[in-house]
Amino acid sequence: GISVTGVMKATLGSPKVAKALLQAGVHALGDSRIENIKTMRQMQITAPIILIRTPIPSQIDQIISCANISVNTEIEVIKKLSVAAQRANVTHSILLMIELGDLREGVMPDQVENTVREILKLPNIYLQGIGANLACRNGISPDSKNMSELSAIAFSIEDTFKIRLNIVSGGNSANLNWALNDSIDVGRVNELRLGESILLGLEPLENKPIPGLYIDTITLVSEVIESKIKPTQPWGDMGLTAFEKIETTAEQSFVSQSILAVGHQDTDPKGLQAPLGINIVGASSDHLIVTAEKHRLNIGSEVRFQI
Ligand SMILES: *Cc1c(COP(=O)(O)O)cnc(C)c1O
Repeated sequence: GISVTGVMKATLGSPKVAKALLQAGVHALGDSRIENIKTMRQMQITAPIILIRTPIPSQIDQIISCANISVNTEIEVIKKLSVAAQRANVTHSILLMIELGDLREGVMPDQVENTVREILKLPNIYLQGIGANLACRNGISPDSKNMSELSAIAFSIEDTFKIRLNIVSGGNSANLNWALNDSIDVGRVNELRLGESILLGLEPLENKPIPGLYIDTITLVSEVIESKIKPTQPWGDMGLTAFEKIETTAEQSFVSQSILAVGHQDTDPKGLQAPLGINIVGASSDHLIVTAEKHRLNIGSEVRFQI
């Protein structure tokens, strides 16, 4: 009974990926950035799109025109959405995000009733449901306790205001272990927003592969631009580096060192996993330095990293 919003932000709104996800059965697409949502709209993606970061006030008009739903936590912002929606003569749906302990976005539970009362007064705004997001800032795991709290808040809003909440969005990929556990009751949660688990096949809390999913659907491929035998230890007086503090050891030897044309500007080098026999030993903005244990890497050859 849980439907999936396919979260597109890691692909910058790639229309190809959007189409694949829609074909696979996601009920909506989600993105945190209006730029990516615009890209999808320009490429004729007509499916419902949810803005999953609370709207940037200066982008309200674009949000009204491109996104069907947005997640929200500030009444000030929701009032601006209402004004813009009236001007555009549309109804904009919102999900009210509830703080459940990870301390990123959300209204504190004791403020929910007041906030909903304000929301329901606003023309051209439809409170489609509530949601929560855990794990992203403090690694707080979704569990029966915080998810039951979310369900209880949904029931309480419906009771107090005599309305029906269509969506109770429980969270992100970090909710999967909870959601797929047969012995739990998912309560009112009927939607999850999934990005990483679909794209990378990984469960984020423990960074483990999810059984049955591929973990190499997206790989980083980079070309070798220098390949030489070099000493393992730098020489000369040492100041700060562009990025990391260097630990030196006294031992000097020689290695087969190569440079790949990718760096901090493209990715987080710490998140890359090199193929067997290749070690990542350093990175700067546009250079990734690797050593090869056995064979020298040829100039122009490609190395594939898991991300
Ligand atoms: C990024 C994000 C998601 C998707 O998270 P994954 O861990 O990639 O599944 C869901 N909800 C919100 C609010 C997000 O910012």
